[in-house]
Amino acid sequence: MENPLVQDELSALRASAELRAVTDSIQDYAIVLLDPQGVVLTWNTGARQIEGYGPEEIVGHRFDRLYTAEDRAAGRPQTLLAEALRAGRAHDEGWRVRKDGSRFWADEVISPLRGANGAVEGYVKVTRDLARRRQDDEQSGEGRTVLNVASVTDYAIFMLDPQGTITSWNLGAERAKGYRADEAIGSNLSIFYTPEDQAAGRPMRLLRRAQDEGRVEDEGWRVRKDGSHFWADVVITRVNDRNGKLIGFAKVTRDMTERRREEEQLRQAEERLRLMIESVQEYAIFMLDRQGRVASWNRGAEHIKGYTAQEIVGQHFSRFYPPEEISAGKPERELEIASAKGRFEEEGWRVRKDGSRFWANVVLSATRNREGALIGFTKITRDLSERKRAAEEMAERARQQSVAAELGLYALQSGQLDRVIERSMQTVRETLQIDDVRILRAGESPVPGARTVRIHAPEPDAEYGFLAASASRPLTANDVRFLQAVANVVAVAMARSQSEEQLRLAEREAIEERGRSVRIQEALLERDEFISVAAHELRTPLTALQLKLQGLESSGGLPPPKGERLGAAVRQTERLARLVDRLLDVSRIAQGRVEMTSESFDLAIIVRQVAEDFREPATQARAALELQLPEKLEGSWDRLRIEQVLVNLLSNAVKYGAGKPITVKLEEVGDLVRLCVADRGIGIAPDDVDRIFGRFQRAAPIRNYGGMGLGLYITRHIVEAHRGTISVISKPGEGSTFVVELPRLSAPAAAGRDKVPRARA
Ligand code: ADP
Repeated sequence: MENPLVQDELSALRASAELRAVTDSIQDYAIVLLDPQGVVLTWNTGARQIEGYGPEEIVGHRFDRLYTAEDRAAGRPQTLLAEALRAGRAHDEGWRVRKDGSRFWADEVISPLRGANGAVEGYVKVTRDLARRRQDDEQSGEGRTVLNVASVTDYAIFMLDPQGTITSWNLGAERAKGYRADEAIGSNLSIFYTPEDQAAGRPMRLLRRAQDEGRVEDEGWRVRKDGSHFWADVVITRVNDRNGKLIGFAKVTRDMTERRREEEQLRQAEERLRLMIESVQEYAIFMLDRQGRVASWNRGAEHIKGYTAQEIVGQHFSRFYPPEEISAGKPERELEIASAKGRFEEEGWRVRKDGSRFWANVVLSATRNREGALIGFTKITRDLSERKRAAEEMAERARQQSVAAELGLYALQSGQLDRVIERSMQTVRETLQIDDVRILRAGESPVPGARTVRIHAPEPDAEYGFLAASASRPLTANDVRFLQAVANVVAVAMARSQSEEQLRLAEREAIEERGRSVRIQEALLERDEFISVAAHELRTPLTALQLKLQGLESSGGLPPPKGERLGAAVRQTERLARLVDRLLDVSRIAQGRVEMTSESFDLAIIVRQVAEDFREPATQARAALELQLPEKLEGSWDRLRIEQVLVNLLSNAVKYGAGKPITVKLEEVGDLVRLCVADRGIGIAPDDVDRIFGRFQRAAPIRNYGGMGLGLYITRHIVEAHRGTISVISKPGEGSTFVVELPRLSAPAAAGRDKVPRARA
């Protein structure tokens, strides 16, 4: 870069005692002149302060020793000189080494100095200790990180007289402010200030402070020639002559606009990150320094571990581990792994402030600076206790469910209630690890403190009792669910055994009932047999007696009063014979052995004849007998049996209708003949109407009316054997009308065997 200003600068630098004073007095920058080979020619106060060497120790030596061994081995110092030569300027940020061997993070600009012929006569190297600046910043509370800010602009270096008039100008100044030397020199420094700063008298105030205090540093907006603003870092240093008299000021200005913007962005990003990390509740996110001491702490960390930031920052992180792991050296080992591999992750037990343990997922990452030096560790811890507990609970629940299902299966197969109960209790004891579990029947009360669940009966809102379990530990919701499942199995077994019991009872009843009906049937058969035997046994002596009496009568009879007695005896035997005949009829009907023989005859005649026979008894019963008969009504029937029907109906009418008229009516209705026997006697209750046609069925009080309840039974069988019907129309107290309808020409069948009453099922 051919620029006369550079030569001016160099010659000025060499020649001017004033400028030497300038560079000497600047403490914040190491400003060093190098010869073309990199040998140190000048060494200012700033260089002594920043790098530790006195001028006598370094002048004449190569500037390489200011770099790290690594940089030297890599030829970095020469590279920088070559770059300055090539590009007009070399800018670098990196580690530099002080005299005492310690390192500092430097911002460095090297510019070449060329002679009049353009040959390189040397270099100016301006170095700043950024760590110092950083420390200042941190102390001022801004907490900015400047490590990452890469770009800086050049330095504007110029001189002012005591009144602030510009007396010298350099290339950096031209670049930074836009004025050429001829434009700047002679102007007051206030041209670089904003109108507000000018109005506030800031430029002169700064000069006065530099005059009083030797130096002043300022940061703020400055104005370029084109009116644009830039953020400047300004150091103004008082310059004295040899006698200590003020001869002016040296001013070094750096354009920090870009850097300030980046810093601001960085600061905001850092702040956002910090806030984000800070506010995370679910994760403990914190930093450890290289030794494992806690350096930062977030809300999640406080939440999970119980310590406040105040309590824990500065403490070694091993206190988060169980004692046995501390003594086994686990925390340190984890740091070693993280720093060797960059990362360490595990799940394990950690300890809270209150001593309680939690199951944690831990990720430990090594944090390194740009140069790769370990500066600490980031640790992220998650509390997995809840997750672990949930997983364990789920497994436990699955186990309990399968146990309950197995028990249910057993209950189904076994079917024996006491076995099922015994197995259930054993299952509860083993599964829940408790000693006391029992079944409480209704009314029994549980041991105090026992947990009970209902044994539901199948009917809604009913129960068989309770399952009561008492444990020394508290039973969980899962345990209770399991108890209920077992109680349900017991309930099903109980319901089953109950219904089986009911079934057994019902079966026994059915068997007994069957037995009863068989006995009834047997009794009925016995009765029928008895009737039959008795009737036959009676019939033979009775016939003999009747014949003897008839013999006596026909041989002239006996003189009174013996003759009348003989007549009465004959009538009694006839009555007896009728009763015995009825019994014989009944047993014949029961055995289906009633023979019917039909013949043609005039029914009107028969009815009249039988009615005639009843004249006398009717008169005795004060019952007028009215006949409504056709002249003739021929048909074909069993004559004797039809006579029997007439006799039965008329004798009932006389018996139950005494004192009132009796009407006997015979008529022809189509193919049928209808016979009605009506009385106006006691009548029959509606409930009894059907019953009276049954065997031995009576409806009248036995005290007033005798009879065996067989007449209507036999009558019905005779009528039905003629394929006819018999019915009765009656009202209690108003009389009864028995109606018999017969086909005119019937071929009577054998009267059916009476149905044997069947046993109730
Ligand atoms: P019994 O020998 O008892 O008369 P029946 O078989 O002839 O037997 O009659 C059965 C029952 O029917 C009688 O006990 C009586 O109660 C009732 N009964 C029959 N005929 C009449 C009637 N004409 N009036 C009222 N009740 C009658």
